[in-house]
Amino acid sequence: MPFASLTEMLKKAQQGQYALGAFNVMNLEYLHSIIETAEQERSPVILQINPIHFKHSRVASFISYIREEAINASVPVALNLDHGNDRQVILYAIRNGFPAVMFDGSKLSYEENILQTKQITEICHPLGIPVEAELGKLNDEGVEITPENRSYFFTDPVEAKEFVNITNVDALAVSIGNAHGFYKGDPEIDFQRLDEIRHKVVIPLVLHGGSGISDDDIRRAISCGICKINIYTEMGANASIRLRQIIAEHPEPFDLPWALLEIRAAIREIVRHKIQLFGSAGKSR
Ligand SMILES: [Zn+2]
Repeated sequence: MPFASLTEMLKKAQQGQYALGAFNVMNLEYLHSIIETAEQERSPVILQINPIHFKHSRVASFISYIREEAINASVPVALNLDHGNDRQVILYAIRNGFPAVMFDGSKLSYEENILQTKQITEICHPLGIPVEAELGKLNDEGVEITPENRSYFFTDPVEAKEFVNITNVDALAVSIGNAHGFYKGDPEIDFQRLDEIRHKVVIPLVLHGGSGISDDDIRRAISCGICKINIYTEMGANASIRLRQIIAEHPEPFDLPWALLEIRAAIREIVRHKIQLFGSAGKSR
């Protein structure tokens, strides 16, 4: 089988009350580390490419390579576009072979987000391409959340229901105290809000910014209905720690391919921990 169906994978995760890791890839170090670990853990896995990483490869060639890897993998491998911010990027992704996309209209007004997301699903669904959307604004700048600005950032459960009904999206990324990149201090996840969203929205819920959220909070988020968790920052952070060690131990120029294998081991370490934490290990059948 080429790429696994993201919709089917998320449905199974939702029914089985576990989450799938959605790991960002932009080169072979990431790609092979993630697939190898998923195979070792017998876990289905989602790969994602963010448009900011398109510059790392010729996109169509990289996707062909990933597809070959997916065909040969012993576990289901899905591929998703991460954060397509406008129609042009979505169309580019479709033309280059992405079987699933995320359209991120979260920076738009609520009305405009609905309008544009609906247009994207109308383009994608006839092609069999599922769409993940985002409602609410992730607090990526680490602004202090107060009672006054809370409703600006966080996903409103009533709006979430209306948004999903009108746009017909297949998965919804929520803003409940999560953010991209490194967190300033410990993130505070609004579980009550997540619970309210889950009771109003039946489609799979997605948590972006999974790096840096405590294991306990991740488990609780999964029990409240999160079934896709995006991981990027922690893989690179662990790899950079290993790279710093290598440079400290080998001040003279060293064999780079060897160092890249060491980098892969550091990425695998994070992927393995997340797969086990999310409960997707052993769920490849
Ligand atoms: Zn994200």
